[in-house]
Amino acid sequence: MQPNPRASNLAGSATLALDARAKELIRSGVDVINMACGEPDFDAPAAVQAAAVAAVGGGNVRYTPPAGRPDLRETVARHLSATRSIEVAPEEVVITHSGKHALSHAFLALLEEGDEVLMPLPAWSSYDEEIRFAGGVPLHVGPRADMGPNLEAIEQACTERTRGILLNTPCNPSGYVWHAKELRRLGDLALERDLWILSDEIYGRLVFGDAVHVSPATLSPELRARTLIVDGASKAYAMTGYRIGFLFGPAELVAVVARMQSQLSGSPNAISQEAFLAALSEEPPEVEQMVRAFDERRQVMVEGLRDMGLDTPLPRGAFYAFPSVLPYLDERGAQGFCADLLEEQALAIVPGEVFGMDDHVRLSCALSVENIRRALERLGAFLDARQQVSST
Ligand code: GLU
Repeated sequence: MQPNPRASNLAGSATLALDARAKELIRSGVDVINMACGEPDFDAPAAVQAAAVAAVGGGNVRYTPPAGRPDLRETVARHLSATRSIEVAPEEVVITHSGKHALSHAFLALLEEGDEVLMPLPAWSSYDEEIRFAGGVPLHVGPRADMGPNLEAIEQACTERTRGILLNTPCNPSGYVWHAKELRRLGDLALERDLWILSDEIYGRLVFGDAVHVSPATLSPELRARTLIVDGASKAYAMTGYRIGFLFGPAELVAVVARMQSQLSGSPNAISQEAFLAALSEEPPEVEQMVRAFDERRQVMVEGLRDMGLDTPLPRGAFYAFPSVLPYLDERGAQGFCADLLEEQALAIVPGEVFGMDDHVRLSCALSVENIRRALERLGAFLDARQQVSST
């Protein structure tokens, strides 16, 4: 039985594969520190857990409308109005099975064969595959030295076939948080070239210090009209396994996505919808505690990496560090580096190739400070040994 080329060419998620490999080693008794996957180590807030249990116990687990429960769509609309300072109507929101699902459905709804999507690097690996699966072509544009968007290069990369721009702020893997003036310039390009903007804001709640999360949709009514926002419960509410998220955009497009959903997967999980409703109705106190913990962790991580001499941009959002390991790479690149690190020091991290930047590696800070310190020790020992090897 032959799958069609579009399906057979689809690469599996690299981050999930690495996570599965690390977990398999842990099950077999190896003391692996798993920094491969972007998954908070916290439990979901108490109110979220209680809501999920109550949904099951109360029998509130039947099909919902394919676009999601009306009260949840209303709550998401209110949440967006409060967090992005734009008035949002429930018809502009569709509840999806996750942020990832919202993204893939947006691409399927928007792209025609050969349409290009501009994407600043570094970028999460699933974007490319989702775009190609929908018939589109990802166009990569490298970053500035500080990992911010190279707007001049983005403008130059735009062609007749470019239909949209994908941005992710705060960025997985660099932690870069876009400034309003950068978003404005990108917005000008979108207006000038008639492009849509798909804004992945799944880490929007996780910003640190003086960083402020800004959505392009908030900058002007014209930009709001051409912006789609993807967000979900996984990162800010530690609800990864609940698989629940949403897409915001023009009501006509949202209706198309809801129709697609009604045919392709049906209504989103009813238990998770109840739990998401609890998370969004009133922010659980655990969320701010988690943000503070991520802030402390990224500081420990970045300090440790810089002490080792690794060039590491300070992440102002999300929960990853993305240092360059260029001086330590052999011909097998960051892939080989990460494979050796797992083998020799039982530390699982992600090679930069996965994000379009070959000289880097990604370490997740979604672990306890104690485990981050243990991981840094292992990485330090690995680098020492490697340096000795390459200098002999
Ligand atoms: N987004 C997370 C990561 O980058 C979760 C895994 C995935 O879906 O790729 O690690």
